[in-house]
Amino acid sequence: MSTTAEVLHHPAARESLLTPVERRRAARFRHEASRLDFVAAHLLVRLCAARSLGVAAHDIELAQYCDECREHGHGRPYVTGRHDVQVSLSHTRGVVAAAAGPAAVGIDVELLGRRSVAPSVLEQVLTQRELGVSGRSRDPQGVFMRQWVRKEALVKVGRTSRATMREVDLSGLPPVPAGSGTSVQRSRFEKFHVLDLADKRRGALASVVCAVPVLLTGEVRPPVPLRGR
Ligand SMILES: [Zn+2]
Repeated sequence: MSTTAEVLHHPAARESLLTPVERRRAARFRHEASRLDFVAAHLLVRLCAARSLGVAAHDIELAQYCDECREHGHGRPYVTGRHDVQVSLSHTRGVVAAAAGPAAVGIDVELLGRRSVAPSVLEQVLTQRELGVSGRSRDPQGVFMRQWVRKEALVKVGRTSRATMREVDLSGLPPVPAGSGTSVQRSRFEKFHVLDLADKRRGALASVVCAVPVLLTGEVRPPVPLRGR
């Protein structure tokens, strides 16, 4: 997980690494900040894949395929010509996250302390058991957001879908750690290893799911510390 600014200041993260397809998609964003989030996520996933394979970032060609539309250019990202690495990426306002490894992997990032969640949304996402846990919590929104990023990661790894995520019960996974500090938490769900991150400094939370244990690699930081964003 990194801020968009941190990725864009990384010397290896040049926008010229993007493919023409990615550049066309990036150009369609109406807001420059959203465009930069997209670019940073697509660069960070290259850095992750390059590190995983021991190659340079410019040797990674990223493509996407959507299983639902059966179209190229969006949907699940993959590295062309390399079946020995699988990747996932996510971006939200000002923060991006990516993962790469030898097995299918899913990652999702969202901002901490974001909007209140309507009861109808809760019911579309959470199981009855999860709703119970959320209802008893002092921080129902925090509980919801953690389960949401976990489930989004499970969607990306192919375990569930947006339409069926309310049937996946994660109430047995560890609860959100108390307080709003920075934390790393590992657990298991079925065959998956789950890594939950909360990063107060970047103001975001993320979850990663993968069939093999998830390692946190060194963070992408610019050579000179950034002030603000
Ligand atoms: Zn699609």
